[in-house]
Amino acid sequence: MNHLESPSNDPVFGPVVHVSKADGAPSVLVVCEHASNRIPEDFGDMGLSREALQSHIAWDPGALTVAQAISDHMSATLIYGGVSRLVYDCNRPPEAADAMPASSEDIPIPANANLTASQRAARIERIYQPFAASVLDEITQNRASLKLMVTVHSFTPVYRGQSRAVEIGLLHGEDDRFARAMLATVPDAAPWVVRLNQPYSAADGVAHTLDVQAAPSGLLNVMIEIRNDLIQTPEQQQKMADDLAPWIMRTLTKFDERNVA
Ligand SMILES: [Zn+2]
Repeated sequence: MNHLESPSNDPVFGPVVHVSKADGAPSVLVVCEHASNRIPEDFGDMGLSREALQSHIAWDPGALTVAQAISDHMSATLIYGGVSRLVYDCNRPPEAADAMPASSEDIPIPANANLTASQRAARIERIYQPFAASVLDEITQNRASLKLMVTVHSFTPVYRGQSRAVEIGLLHGEDDRFARAMLATVPDAAPWVVRLNQPYSAADGVAHTLDVQAAPSGLLNVMIEIRNDLIQTPEQQQKMADDLAPWIMRTLTKFDERNVA
């Protein structure tokens, strides 16, 4: 796999989006919007504790390594965010209130309180636009071979004091075909609790990348949410990818066989 950085480098911070190009003509594009908890220096600590900045409110722990390993399995291109979602959540449109959340899981984010229109515009231009442009460029360049977009996320096992039983969520936006097809082909030996549209769904605003980038281009698409206690170690992350990748590819093959992709 060729590892190319996006030309959209932030002079202060470094890349706000990373693009690992597949060799050849990829059939799958993997996207990981919440890969990083890095915060540009000019934002300081955003008024948050070190603990909060390490926690799931800042990023999706474990998701990037799983996304990278899935990409390697499938010779896919991988695009991932280089900035914490506390600064800008690249799975949200600029007009969404939680694109720059004033709080997350009831923790106030002081640096996001009372943002002015120009402060919001600056973050959109600096982070969201390069990210979205990189995804669109990749789809445009490889439209002939691409069939599927998979976005990889992780979620916290306990949210607002409530334990979550779901272990893997298959989420869809406007196009539910691939999520439902994966649900219908959960591997027999799969050890996980798999659910459709849990612990979130499009109603929570999480289908942005799927609906804005994949669906208009006619790509099949699915968002995979993995409970983050299952992918804490490098070994767990690799095992998860080793289990997910064949499942995804088998599902994609069924679409090929039906010639509906
Ligand atoms: Zn996420």
